[in-house]
Amino acid sequence: MEEGSPPIHRNMAELCSGLIKDKFITSQKVYDTIMQVDRADFSPTNPYQDNAQRIGYNVVISAPHLHAYCLEALKDYLTEGSTALDIGFGSGYLTVAMSKMMNDKGKVVGIEHIKDLYNWGINNISKHHKNLIDNKTIELILGDGRLGYKNMAPYNCIHVGAYSRKVPNEFIEQLAYGGRLVMPLGEPDDHYIYCIDKDLNGKLKFTKGLSVCYVSLTSVKNQLKGIQ
Ligand code: SAH
Repeated sequence: MEEGSPPIHRNMAELCSGLIKDKFITSQKVYDTIMQVDRADFSPTNPYQDNAQRIGYNVVISAPHLHAYCLEALKDYLTEGSTALDIGFGSGYLTVAMSKMMNDKGKVVGIEHIKDLYNWGINNISKHHKNLIDNKTIELILGDGRLGYKNMAPYNCIHVGAYSRKVPNEFIEQLAYGGRLVMPLGEPDDHYIYCIDKDLNGKLKFTKGLSVCYVSLTSVKNQLKGIQ
């Protein structure tokens, strides 16, 4: 993903002011959440700039406005006592933010399939939020996120940080009745963040959102192709 030239911010407060102005943060709850998770712990470069930053393995930490957008979409599902799944946790930023949104009184399972990123994400989270790993509020799994993570299902919400052509059945099966799945869907050059709501009868409703440019939800082998 290429960098544009968004304003240079010096800290989270300035970054958040920009996100409020651009209407990506529209609630106090998302503002309070984002202010608790310093991107400097997760982004190796330009942490307060509103665009994606490379983190290796053809992967980026998503832009702050996309983290804000997904948190806005998930805010009613990330409440105290809920269980959430973050597929493709990469830097670990959103996994921590999801826990913070539950006031650290819930469970967030994160899955990542690249071993180095998995370890790096744990290291990032441990800088200021190690307690959440120690007390198992956050559980981090090394594995194939395309299968979801059955052991802790059902989830009140699921976030997927990589796009796919269609929703894997496992995600729908592991989503609680009344829950929400937020994931990018579509083709390599044309995908959008969708909210997929599962009602109390199991009926699904798809709502198309922002056009984005994400990495694909793929096999480790595919992702590592051409890197080593
Ligand atoms: N939310 C993360 C997004 C990172 S990019 C952040 O902002 O830091 C998407 C991530 O999905 C990458 O880390 C990539 O390695 C991971 N990924 C892609 N396919 C996957 C799969 N099948 N299983 C688990 N993780 C996957």
